[in-house]
Amino acid sequence: MQIWHSSKKFSKMGACFIFALAATSALASYSPAEWLNFKAPVAGKPNPIGNYTNGCLIGGEKVPFNGVGYQVVRQEKNRYYAHPEMLQYLQNLGKKLHAAHLPAMLISDVAMPAGGRFVDGHHSHQMGLDVDIWFRMGKLTAKEAYHSTGLANLMANPTTKKMTSDWTNQQETLLKLAASDPHVARIFVNPLIKVHLCQTVKGDRQWLHKIRPWYGHNSHFHVRLSCPKGAQYCHNQAAIPVGDGCDQSLYAWLKPKPKPTKPGKPKPVVIPPPPPLCQLLLDEQAKKIEQLKKNP
Ligand SMILES: [Zn+2]
Repeated sequence: MQIWHSSKKFSKMGACFIFALAATSALASYSPAEWLNFKAPVAGKPNPIGNYTNGCLIGGEKVPFNGVGYQVVRQEKNRYYAHPEMLQYLQNLGKKLHAAHLPAMLISDVAMPAGGRFVDGHHSHQMGLDVDIWFRMGKLTAKEAYHSTGLANLMANPTTKKMTSDWTNQQETLLKLAASDPHVARIFVNPLIKVHLCQTVKGDRQWLHKIRPWYGHNSHFHVRLSCPKGAQYCHNQAAIPVGDGCDQSLYAWLKPKPKPTKPGKPKPVVIPPPPPLCQLLLDEQAKKIEQLKKNP
């Protein structure tokens, strides 16, 4: 697909495609499973398109499975493709951990080869700018790194609301190093972990600003990078409120969720259509597969 190989052509033609496809993509039925048709990244100038929960990635790069201070886990999932800035971020973080004599970090889901929506699990990770990193540290065996189900460790007990014995200063240092890179927009952790940090971190607390509470995230944390400079189709999230976030807004997460007043059927999940430029990638890939079937 030639247009993706030329950034000049891409930027000239992009606007036309947006208008042309806005009409067609609304009509086409979209299944997230279509993103599994990409077995390798889409060649071209790195371009994250859309937003973190609905987008795709041109010019992704495979994160090598082993590097200084890190290892990729859950390799069977094929979710280890990253925007080059994310790859650089991970490699730099691994080197910082190594220099601090800490065990290696375990990198879980990044993105699929062309980004897009996963068929299971979380809905972000769509532009190669999100990554899950386990709190458990230290490399696994090659077999465990390939199939890693059940090997992550819980850091806070949801029943007792207390941290488990797996949480040590090493996890705090890992989070601090992860948050201190200027490319990072925010990091999601379980609210109990954020509360623990609010209560225990001494000295420099500036990095707590980027640590945000979210459901789950008890055995891994989720790093989100800002849109790279010049990425014209990438949409950042709204900025985080000022301060360290150790306030009422945090403690509200610990209150039990109010029960719905009218019990009824849960609302069906509505999956939005992908941005038009991402739909174009899907259409081109479907055409290629169709041609291969005709002329194997
Ligand atoms: Zn995640």
